Formats: sequence, C-alpha cells, structure tokens
Amino acid sequence: MSSGFPKQYYLHRGGGVAKTPPVGSACNPRYHRLLLIWPGAAHVLILLAAPLLAGAGAPGAPTQLTRLTLPFEGIWGVIQGTGSGQTHVGYAAFALDFVPAQPKSDRPPPRGAPLTAFACYGRPILAPADGTVVRVSARARDWPAYVEGTGDGNFVIIQHAKNEFSELRHLKANSVTVAAGQRVRRGQIVGRCGNSGNAKTPHLHIALLSSVAPIATRRFAFSGYEVLTPGGHFQPGDGEPKAGQLVRTAGRPGAAATDRRP
Ligand SMILES: [Zn+2]
Repeated sequence: MSSGFPKQYYLHRGGGVAKTPPVGSACNPRYHRLLLIWPGAAHVLILLAAPLLAGAGAPGAPTQLTRLTLPFEGIWGVIQGTGSGQTHVGYAAFALDFVPAQPKSDRPPPRGAPLTAFACYGRPILAPADGTVVRVSARARDWPAYVEGTGDGNFVIIQHAKNEFSELRHLKANSVTVAAGQRVRRGQIVGRCGNSGNAKTPHLHIALLSSVAPIATRRFAFSGYEVLTPGGHFQPGDGEPKAGQLVRTAGRPGAAATDRRP
C-alpha cells in the first residue's frame, strides 16, 4: 500500500483528551503509578501485552466471531489509531477515533465555533453488526468544542457474541435511539456523532471489547471497507484502519462531509 494522504481531503483532529476510565472500567492504581513514574512504561506494557490481548490472527488468541462493518456512511478517516500513546492506552489501547473526511475547501472551525460547525456533529452512527444493546448512557451533555470534556458521555455498547462487544462513544446529547436489552441490526442508527464525555471536538470512538466490566478493548478487524489512496482511488482495506487513513464501506461511493445529513 502506498503511503501518504489523499490531497483533496483533510481530517479535523480534536480527538479524545482525558485519561479517566469510562464507566464499567476498573481503575488500575498500579497502572497509574507507572504512568507517573515513567510515561514510557505504558507503551512497554502495551507492547508486552499485545500478543496476549490480540484478536484475529494472533497466535493463541480467540478469533473474532463478529463481522464488523464501518459504523458510518460516507468517507471518514482515523484521527487516532490503536495504541496511539495519546488517549488510546491501557484499557483503550485498541480503540479507533474517526471523523468524516472534509474537502480541502472546507475551512476548519475556529475556536469558539458552535458544534454544528464540525463535520462529525450530528452524523448518524450505525451498529457495526447485529447484536443486543447491553449498556447505554444517553443523558450526558455535549461539551463546547475545544473544551477538555470529562465524564463518560453518551455511549452505546452492543453485544455481538460471547466476549465481543462494540462500544460507540461521545454520542450527541439526546441522540441515542436504542435502549439496553434491545436487539439491533447491522447498519441501524444507534445515535449521532457528538462531543460528550472525554472529547475535545466531535468524533466517534469505537472499539471491540472482550469485557464490559471492566472495559477491555481487544484487537479487532473491520470487514468490507476500502481505503482511499493518495492517488485518489479506493482499494480494499486490510481489516485494521490505520491513523490517517480514509475509509468507506466497500462498493458504496460515499460523499465527504459536505453531504452531512443532520
Ligand atoms: Zn478514542
């Protein structure tokens, strides 16, 4: 695969900020002490633990039973990949942050801009596979953009198989459309992109969990998606979207962020 970034788009990077474990997770004091002593320790721990935590393809690890598809329509990009060392560390090591790709002609929202100025805000977020909703938080507020938000925010966790749950976070206030116990179908709208919880600007945080209490992300793969090359054409993805990649559901020409349907 060629490297580089398609020139016609950009990704607005605000991303997650806080390090507080979300609801259902166990705060691990030892882990935090290590962070205080030596920030690099977290990375070493993740590298050492990765073979044990890894999912599909990793020797001795359980294979991924659930076929996960992209939880959005159109062209989006990864603004924080797995094991980023930013906020995707520890229990969140295998999470991905996405925002819609925006044409270069769109100007990034300035400080003080309303949330509605952000391409992600209000975009539908879709169930990545069939399953049963097991946890929902729907009453959190959206923080203003560029504020370092705190709290668990609005989220949906869907169980797809034993030890396979997808989590979708930072959902918009009052946008969650599903309840715990409800069956959902792949592609069903579960909420809309927002700026709740530990987010700085609107984006979607998604991960596959092996455990909900405590929250534990695991390595995972998406199916049926394509990556936009710097040359401007789409090619099949390898299953694990990387930081900086632009992706869309395979075979479904997707518009960029100008096509926003709030
Ligand atoms: Zn995230």
